[in-house]
Amino acid sequence: MTRTMVDVDVMVIGAGFAGLYAVHRAASAGLSALGVEAAPDVGGTWYWNRYPGARCDVESVDYSYSFDDDLQQSWTWTERFAAQPEILAYLQHVADRFDLRRHYQFGVDVVAASFEGGCWQVRTAAGQTYAAQFLVCATGCLSAVNRPDIPGAGEFAGQVYFTAAWPREDPDLRGKRVGLIGTGSSGIQAVPIIARDADQLVVFQRSANYSVPMPNRPWSPEEQRQIRERYPERRRLSAYASAGTPHGTYAKNAVDTDPWERADALWKRWREGGVLFAKTFPDQNSDPAANDIARVFAEERIREIVDDPAVAADLIPGDHPIGSKRICTDAGYYATFNRGNVRLVNLRREPIDAITADDVRTINATYPCDVLIFATGFDALTGALTRIDPTGPGGERLRDIWAGGPVTFLGLMIPGLPNLFSISGPGSPSVLANMVVHAEVQVDWVMDLILAARARGLDEVEPRADAARAWTDHVAHAAEQTLFTKAASSWYLGANIDGKKRTFMPYTGGFGTYRRHCELIARTGYAGLVLTTHTGH
Ligand SMILES: Cc1cc2nc3c(=O)[nH]c(=O)nc-3n(C[C@H](O)[C@H](O)[C@H](O)COP(=O)(O)OP(=O)(O)OC[C@H]3O[C@@H](n4cnc5c(N)ncnc54)[C@H](O)[C@@H]3O)c2cc1C
Repeated sequence: MTRTMVDVDVMVIGAGFAGLYAVHRAASAGLSALGVEAAPDVGGTWYWNRYPGARCDVESVDYSYSFDDDLQQSWTWTERFAAQPEILAYLQHVADRFDLRRHYQFGVDVVAASFEGGCWQVRTAAGQTYAAQFLVCATGCLSAVNRPDIPGAGEFAGQVYFTAAWPREDPDLRGKRVGLIGTGSSGIQAVPIIARDADQLVVFQRSANYSVPMPNRPWSPEEQRQIRERYPERRRLSAYASAGTPHGTYAKNAVDTDPWERADALWKRWREGGVLFAKTFPDQNSDPAANDIARVFAEERIREIVDDPAVAADLIPGDHPIGSKRICTDAGYYATFNRGNVRLVNLRREPIDAITADDVRTINATYPCDVLIFATGFDALTGALTRIDPTGPGGERLRDIWAGGPVTFLGLMIPGLPNLFSISGPGSPSVLANMVVHAEVQVDWVMDLILAARARGLDEVEPRADAARAWTDHVAHAAEQTLFTKAASSWYLGANIDGKKRTFMPYTGGFGTYRRHCELIARTGYAGLVLTTHTGH
């Protein structure tokens, strides 16, 4: 076993939006910082998810760093919703501009971490060990790829791809019979593009999801000028907004608005496109009657687009309030099912029996395939961290601490694991917010805490068990006030992973409210945390 003992103040796992910013903040504060990343380069989500159609669903001008005005003034987003190559190029630009790669080691897969003798011993798949006083897990909440255990999957003789680990060399699907399993955000983005290339495309759908068209378009030079001019205002509006973007909801509750006005508001949001539709009215995610209004509107649009009423019926979820699962955004998803070369298979009606060397077999039929694409998502929010399964000083492992569901303080710290921070983890707004601004807020909070502890000569920080319990109860209580918990098949609940404890994980209280909570804790001298020295003083 190779032992490479690197002693640093702060070790950051991950080189996505969160990790890059964490390394930048730590290094700028004069701390010794080491970043490690499993991929060969920076990018995180945008390094791995290169599938056809991959794009952000929050407008790029908002889905970008706000910490440096020169950066945002100097970078030009060419489209409303940037595609994966442009977002990856942006992150590479950030790494170059702030000289971040010199702090990183790439191709390093962390497999274990334990807190011993007052610091984290971090072990890699290659058998190296790094030592760090503070460990920032910027490992991503949508990074642990879900590889479902379908009988016979290993026997398939054709090509197999995962949207979340798409090859750098885009596979040629022309003339191929493609089977795509999974109809969440990635599958819905990929289907229209793959359908154009493939000879035949069979889409295997276990859970239907609502999708809203994304009216993507290039920005004109004049719009780009205006974006730069209005950036400060845009960021100000986003800073404490419920989703971390400058967009709000309609001024009135759906149930208090007359039907014509309501329809106008829904049409406006539908045409603006994307995730915003999920927040058309303030009461949409809490009042079932309000949600029904938006849901029925969206279902009417699906029936209008899809020619075959039976296919439309299969594409309409019908099992959850709209927006209680991540609303998807698409470039012609529903219309794709009007093509002669595309077929939808409803796995709720005809489950997969097995995959063989040449085909996918359901209980009703056999679907021959040359290529299988798994758009089966992630072990979301907890997966990247539980795969490392850090061990605290008392020998307690994360998997045991979270056996009854994730327990966190502000979604950032875990009782029993001192000096460890989880960015965008369970208990934070994460996937319900603009995750770039969210990462900046969390990383700033973590760095401020580390610097405050050091200024007081302290080197260990840990949440009190009762404070973590109180925050976790608050997260659960906030979720109960919403319709989010009504979606039984949601990955927000862990329902896409066999055997995963069903707990609603993201914080639904809103990004702005969350940010104020974090600020309050810092202002009150980190109430809820124990700050000490390793020797206990
Ligand atoms: C297709 C897609 C589209 C998305 N669109 C949006 C959007 O429009 N708006 C939005 O707000 N969010 C979106 N998201 C969520 C997205 O994940 C976040 O916005 C953001 O990119 C997360 O950044 P991060 O740095 O926290 O994590 P990531 O970008 O996931 O980076 C984590 C990194 O950690 C590395 N890592 C993990 N575990 C280990 C380990 N054990 N050892 C070494 N390295 C490790 C991974 O390789 C990865 O590179 C999208 C996600 C996907 C998958």
